[in-house]
Amino acid sequence: MPIHILPEDVASKIAAGEVIERPASVVKELIENAIDAGAHTVHVEIRQAGRRLIRISDDGCGIPADEIEVAFARHATSKLDTVDDLEHIRTLGFRGEALASIAAVAQVTLTTSTGQSQVGTRVRVDGGEFDRPEPIAHPRGTTIGVENLFFNVPARLKFLRADATERKHIETLLTRYAMAYSGVRFSVENDGRLTFRSPGSGDLRDVLIQVYGLSTAQGMLFVEAGGGEHQVCVSGYVSPPDEHRATRSEISLFVNGRWIQDSSLAYAVEQAYHTLLPQGRHPLAAIKIDLPPEEVDVNVHPAKSEVKFQRRDAVFRAVQRAVRSALIEQSPIPTATGPAQSWGVDGWQERREALIGASASQAAATQATLDLISSAQSDSRWEGEFEAGATGQAKLPPLRAIGQIGRTYIIAEGPEGMYLIDQHAAHERVMYERLLAQHEASDVPVQTLLEPLAVELTPGQVDEMALWLDGLHALGFEIEPFGPNTVLVRALPALLARGDVRELLVGIVDELSLGEEPLAEDVHRRIAAAACKQGAVKAGQTLSAEEVRGLIEQLEQTTSPRTCPHGRPTMILLSQGWLEREFGRR
Ligand code: ADP
Ligand code: MG
Repeated sequence: MPIHILPEDVASKIAAGEVIERPASVVKELIENAIDAGAHTVHVEIRQAGRRLIRISDDGCGIPADEIEVAFARHATSKLDTVDDLEHIRTLGFRGEALASIAAVAQVTLTTSTGQSQVGTRVRVDGGEFDRPEPIAHPRGTTIGVENLFFNVPARLKFLRADATERKHIETLLTRYAMAYSGVRFSVENDGRLTFRSPGSGDLRDVLIQVYGLSTAQGMLFVEAGGGEHQVCVSGYVSPPDEHRATRSEISLFVNGRWIQDSSLAYAVEQAYHTLLPQGRHPLAAIKIDLPPEEVDVNVHPAKSEVKFQRRDAVFRAVQRAVRSALIEQSPIPTATGPAQSWGVDGWQERREALIGASASQAAATQATLDLISSAQSDSRWEGEFEAGATGQAKLPPLRAIGQIGRTYIIAEGPEGMYLIDQHAAHERVMYERLLAQHEASDVPVQTLLEPLAVELTPGQVDEMALWLDGLHALGFEIEPFGPNTVLVRALPALLARGDVRELLVGIVDELSLGEEPLAEDVHRRIAAAACKQGAVKAGQTLSAEEVRGLIEQLEQTTSPRTCPHGRPTMILLSQGWLEREFGRR
């Protein structure tokens, strides 16, 4: 075939393919136009997941009658003039492609009025052909109906997914714009049924209530940090550490009002939860990042859903810091709720039978053996460890230690009720913060072994350890490779110098080999978390009354007393109210 220029209608369908991939892309472009037009109310009507009809009405500025036809031309826009303007883009659209693309692959009816006179104008565009404009009554604003999407591009039609999937894409999109523009009232009608509505109050939390439900939204923590040398403002809401999801898809990020997909910024949010969230779980977040437009290039992606930052590190750090400080300042203690543990008379009978029928070991575990430890049982191994720690503002209410149960949990009393504290998790937290503080002060007390100890590892473990060697040295481990499957340990941090060194080391290496590779600045935290997991008092160890008290005192000194470095809670509160309810006093 000789080289030839494609006919206009082929070229326009190819170009449209870049922008309009599925019904949700039409919705996206039209919503962006409505927002750019200054709309306060945007109504979206969908039939058959958008294949049959997508109709979007807004109360924005409208389009003057004599500009309607040109608005449908390719590269026709009112938002940009020169290349320089691209540097200060404040609108969502700027390429002048959307209306042209949509009109190339669907039948479009546009009705619009600038509000100057009582009459508006209606035009139909079918496969790029214009009907004569007619005058028609329409309030200020614009309504665009898009029918039979891809009617003339069967290939695209074939690739559309099930209706439910396409609808889901549209709804997700709507919730994102509602979050980014909490002052705009959005509503969505699917086949005649109202499926989403945002109040347009200007308060992001009101939108989150619609998206996540009242109790989740109310529990979310407010994030706000701003200015700084690079003028990066971060605001929004994030979930507390006890609310999490299996995927990252509930982390929504907006840059200057634009929803963006950016896995490294999502990672910055997750990094802020470091040690607060269980492994493999992800937070919910709606984070707005605002910065001067010349600091971001928005013209790097066909759907404009990715951006490039001039100073990516500064943005990354600003997000991470803002979220982290919100978490540390506002995280609540998990509280037992709901009637799950309350047995009525019938339930109790079943419960009893289950207990009697259960195997002896299960029964022993279920029947919480209350082990009030007397000082006679004192075991001095932990004494040194538990003396009062570094100074710091106590983030816990004052707690009165009562005792230990099941050799695993500590019972304590506080102003709000009864606290059950996981001794391992709590001690992990205490050691972790201490070790990091020593490291930051470049003063890690080290215990040198009388004789270097050769520890045998698998070749895989030796390789893994080699990756972490510098960090391990910085934290007080003196370790050197010694043959293909042996390392020589000469010293270790004094905090960890008890128990079996080999077991400690193997445990640390195994722990480090899990999970993603951390950022340079997180290496020490990862190692410290792994080391303290191995070094902390275990479940099943009896603690003396002094040890119990000491542990609580030290926990009170930590900055994040409510979770262990791996994100499990260190304590559960059984509130006064809950106890009263469960005992039928209220
Ligand atoms: P872009 O948004 O990139 O400018 P579009 O093809 O989406 O390109 O729209 C072309 C032009 O049509 C816009 O620049 C705007 O002037 C006008 N327009 C489109 N939709 C609306 C609307 N809902 N309200 C007012 N003007 C609109
Ligand atoms: Mg547009």
